[in-house]
Amino acid sequence: MKKRVCILYTGGTIGMVPTEQGYAPKKRYFTGLLDEISQLKNKDMPNWDIVEFDPLLDSANVAVDEWVNIGREIRDRYNNYDGFVVLHGTDTMSYTASALSFMLEGLDKPVVLTGAQIPLCELRSDGRDNLINSIVIASEGVANEVCLYFAGKLLRGNRSTKTSADELMAFTSPNYPVLANVGIDIKYNHQALIKPKQADKFKLTELRQVPIGVLKFFPGIQFELFEQIISERLSGVVLETFGEGNIPSNNRPLVNSIKRASENGAIVTVCSQCYQGTTKLGTYATSNALKEFGAVGCYDMTTETAVAKLYYLFSCGYSGEKIKELMETDLRGEMTK
Ligand code: ASP
Repeated sequence: MKKRVCILYTGGTIGMVPTEQGYAPKKRYFTGLLDEISQLKNKDMPNWDIVEFDPLLDSANVAVDEWVNIGREIRDRYNNYDGFVVLHGTDTMSYTASALSFMLEGLDKPVVLTGAQIPLCELRSDGRDNLINSIVIASEGVANEVCLYFAGKLLRGNRSTKTSADELMAFTSPNYPVLANVGIDIKYNHQALIKPKQADKFKLTELRQVPIGVLKFFPGIQFELFEQIISERLSGVVLETFGEGNIPSNNRPLVNSIKRASENGAIVTVCSQCYQGTTKLGTYATSNALKEFGAVGCYDMTTETAVAKLYYLFSCGYSGEKIKELMETDLRGEMTK
C-alpha cells in the first residue's frame, strides 16, 4: 500500500512572490505551483495531501501560537498519515523544530521541516528538491523524530541552527552528526537516530506564552540599562555567554542583577556564543558566579533549543527546581552531557 504524507504549509520563502514591499507569501498560490512539478505525480511518490495555513507567514512572525497550531494539525491527523512535512520559513525554522520536538512526545513517525532559500516560482529554486526529498523521508518512517531537511542533509531539528543567509545549505548541526546524507541514495545514520520507546504514547503538549528573555553579552555591555527587566520581569533567561559560559564578572551591576533574578525565582540558563562545544560552568573564575547563583548550564544546546525548552517546561507547569533539573537533562536528543 502507498504511504501517505501530510504537508503542512505555514509560509516561508518557498511559496513567496515578489511584492512592492519585498518577498511575501500569497494565499492559494503555492498549491498551483505544485501542480507543475511532475515528480510529485511520479508512481514512486507517496500519496500526499497539503494543508494551507491561514494566514501564511514569513517565519519572522512565527511564535508560540503558531507552534501550537502546527502541533494541533499534526495531532489531529496523526493516525491518518505515515509522516508529516512542515513547510516553513528558514529564519526561525530551528526554533519551530525545537519547540515541536518537545511538544510532540512519543513521536513514532517522521516530522520533517523544510523550505527554500529561493522561492519555488523562480528559476533556480531549491524548494523543489527540498520538498520532494522531505516527502520521501517523511514516508520512509526511518527518522521517527522532528528533523529538518535542507540541501542534501537531514538534521535533528533541535540540533540545527540557521548559519547562512544566502547559501542553499542554510543550516548546520554543529554539535550532533547529520541524521542522513541524501545523494543518489538516502543514507541514514542509524546510530544517530532517536529510538522511540515502545511505552511512550504520542501526546501533544501545547505551549503557552511565558516571559522569557535572551541576553547576548558583548564587551562593554551597560547592564544597568537592562537591569530591571532581567531581575524582576522574567521567569526565565537564556544568557549567551562567552566561550564555556564566561561573563564579564568585574561588571558589578551585571553580576548583581543576575543574582537578584535568580533569587526572585527566574531560571537563569547559560548557553555559549560559540556554535560548537559545550558550556562548563566553573572552569574559569569568570563563570563561577553563575554557578554560585544556581544558574543552569545548557551544555551544547543551541540558544534556539534552550528558548523552546524553557517555553515547554514552563508550559508543563513544573516547579522552578524541576525546570532547572530538566534543563540539564536530555529529553529529546537536544544535548550531550
Ligand atoms: N524570511 C523568510 C522566512 O523565514 C526566509 C525564508 O523562508 O528563507 O519566512
